Parts: sequence; C-alpha cells; structure tokens
Amino acid sequence: MNYSTLSIFADQKNLTHAILKRYDGTSKPPYDSLNVSFGVSDNAATVLANRGKIKETFHLENLISAGQIHSNRILIVDSKPKTDLEEGGYDALITNIPQVALMIQQADCQAVMLFDPIRKVIANIHSGWKGTSLNIIAKTIQTMTVEFASAPADILAGISPSLGPCCAEFINYKTELPTHLHKYQQTPNYFDFWAISQDQLIAAGVTRKNIEIAKICTMCNHDYFSYRRKKTTGRFGSIIALR
Ligand SMILES: [Zn+2]
Repeated sequence: MNYSTLSIFADQKNLTHAILKRYDGTSKPPYDSLNVSFGVSDNAATVLANRGKIKETFHLENLISAGQIHSNRILIVDSKPKTDLEEGGYDALITNIPQVALMIQQADCQAVMLFDPIRKVIANIHSGWKGTSLNIIAKTIQTMTVEFASAPADILAGISPSLGPCCAEFINYKTELPTHLHKYQQTPNYFDFWAISQDQLIAAGVTRKNIEIAKICTMCNHDYFSYRRKKTTGRFGSIIALR
C-alpha cells in the first residue's frame, strides 16, 4: 500500500501511523481509488472494502472516524469499540486504547496527529480553515491534559500533507478568517496554514522540536485527493494507532 510517514514518529515503537495516498483501493473515478469517505457519493460497499484493506495492511482491530463537520467537537474513545465507528458531529478523536486507529479523512484539510509517549495517548485532528479559526488544536491538547494528564511538552505532533501556502487562496479572507490570522498572508490572498497550526501547537505548550510539518501540498501533489483541484473527488486517510 502506498503511503507516507512523518519522521517525528519514526522511533516510536508503540505507534503506527500512515498518510495514505490515493492508490491501491477499488473505488472508480472520480474517487479512484483508495477513497475512505462515505460522504462523497462513492459506493458504500467499495468504501468499506477500502477501509478493510487499510485495517488488514496495518493490523488494526478497529478503524474509527468522525463525521467531520468543521467544528471543534472532540470524541474521546475510552473503551474498546465493539464495531468500527463513524461518529457524526466530531472533528477530533482521542484514545488510549491500543489497536484502535483514529482516521481523519482529507482532501486539502490538515490531519494533525498527536502522540503522548509518556501517557500513551493519541489524537487525530481534522483542521481545515474553519477548525483552524476555532483553534481545535488547542482544545484537543487541553482535553488530553484534563482527561489523560498529558503534559503538552511531552506531545509529538505531525501535520499531514494538506493545502500549502502555494495554493491556499482565500479571496474572502476578510470575512472568513479571524483578524488574528491575517498576518499569515504570504502573498496577496494566500495564507500559510502550516505556520498557523505550528503556532497554535506552540501556544498550546508543544515544543517546536516536537513538531513536524510534512510540507506536501495536496493541490500540487497528485498522490493525494484535493478538493481544490477537483470538486468531486475522494478523501484520503491519515491514521494513527497505539500498538
Ligand atoms: Zn500547492
């Protein structure tokens, strides 16, 4: 299976993670081929088969995803699920249960993957521009500290391939983005959401050396689905799981 990884997690023996490219699935165009989303009018049985192949490849017992509504709502998975779940109404997932993979579905939005190797807790955050505006990153880290006693300085963070500053054009940024984010405008109407996420992580207590940005733009790199490149398309998955 074709996927990329982040070196920040490379030495972590208790962790599995992968950013899945669009290949090796069975979805037909325009969802070809490893589409993980039930929400894009692809054939549901095909999506299920794609997800099954991911579980098999990475030896996962459960694959948990969220409905992803561009909110800042967080689902804590605190017991072993009986079945794979797609819980509607959430944009971040946290668990300390081994073999339960947390998956974010993407086509330009970021998956921000977190691992606390001390408390053995993981999180996976869906952060597009709306989640970024709501600072779902800070809320997720705060939830890890409250619910799992994580210290932010212990947390390792990886930002997946996503829309880069080369392509993140927001013509209506004055009405869409809060004013404190306007300073991330690089060239007229283009914003660096990778830098915003890094700064949100640092402000939440994560140390700079513990943050990695993949720096792969999904609109430029055709290995990944991109909503901006093609409106009707699939979603690729970023997964993280404790072994
Ligand atoms: Zn680009």
